[in-house]
Amino acid sequence: MAKSVRDQLRWNGTLPDPRDTPGTKGKAQARKDLASIAPKLADLQERLFANAKVGGDRKVLLLLQGMDASGKDGTVKHVVGQVNPAGCRITSFGKPTKEELAHDFLWRTTNALPAAGQIGVFNRSQYEDVLVVRVHELVPRATWSRRYARINAWESRAVKSGASVVKVFLHISPDEQKQRLLERIDNPTKHWKVGTADIPERHRWADYQAAYLGALTRCSTDVAPWYVVPADRKWYRDWAVSSLLLETLSDLELGWPTPDGLDLKAMRKELVSEAASS
Ligand code: AMP
Ligand code: MG
Repeated sequence: MAKSVRDQLRWNGTLPDPRDTPGTKGKAQARKDLASIAPKLADLQERLFANAKVGGDRKVLLLLQGMDASGKDGTVKHVVGQVNPAGCRITSFGKPTKEELAHDFLWRTTNALPAAGQIGVFNRSQYEDVLVVRVHELVPRATWSRRYARINAWESRAVKSGASVVKVFLHISPDEQKQRLLERIDNPTKHWKVGTADIPERHRWADYQAAYLGALTRCSTDVAPWYVVPADRKWYRDWAVSSLLLETLSDLELGWPTPDGLDLKAMRKELVSEAASS
């Protein structure tokens, strides 16, 4: 049997080449596969939503991390965009507000957890508190180093409450980031995406990679493993994240529920006779 995409991308201790495309037979085939994945994803999401209407507790949390221009926004648009937005809860985590800073670092992510039936999407996440915070020494080492265990416990609680957690590291190369940042600078419709910190942050590449390695190593657990998606090729990224979601939703084996106490036969009869008498 072919290895699942989850098995191929699960963090195994080494970073792949960001240009790799494991599990695919090239761009044309991946695009074709994606066209057949989309309706399946939409169907499964609707089942997830339907099951919550009758008391099901299942939900999915798709968490996206990656360097600037690694494709987090593109993934939300192209992958999450394949399903009904009514069943999604998308949250982007930027620099914490004053209010957020006054709380524990897990406060804002706890507030953004998906409800039963929803696909929650985190564009950046609690991991920023062991990534940017570590790189810039925004808190002492003793503080951020305690956070890995806190994050693991938090994710384990989310899983116990019915969430399937899909953590994706969009892994790009410095060369690809350079190209994407240049494209933004050269395209007036992309200037709004450019930040003054983009280049100084890029110069800390090695520090960020070390911080990512820490997060991958310390927080890839059985209940919530990390998946590393080589992300230099956008078509691969979209195929891979869509496939991870599809496998995760398929595992839930969701049927189409009928609410208790519905007498469909009687309702049908009433409607039919109404049509006949008017
Ligand atoms: P963007 O994704 O381009 O909108 O940028 C969001 C910015 O917020 C990034 O530079 C993040 O590193 C930063 N950010 C997110 N979470 C935190 C955090 N907990 N502490 C400090 N900066 C953060
Ligand atoms: Mg940015």
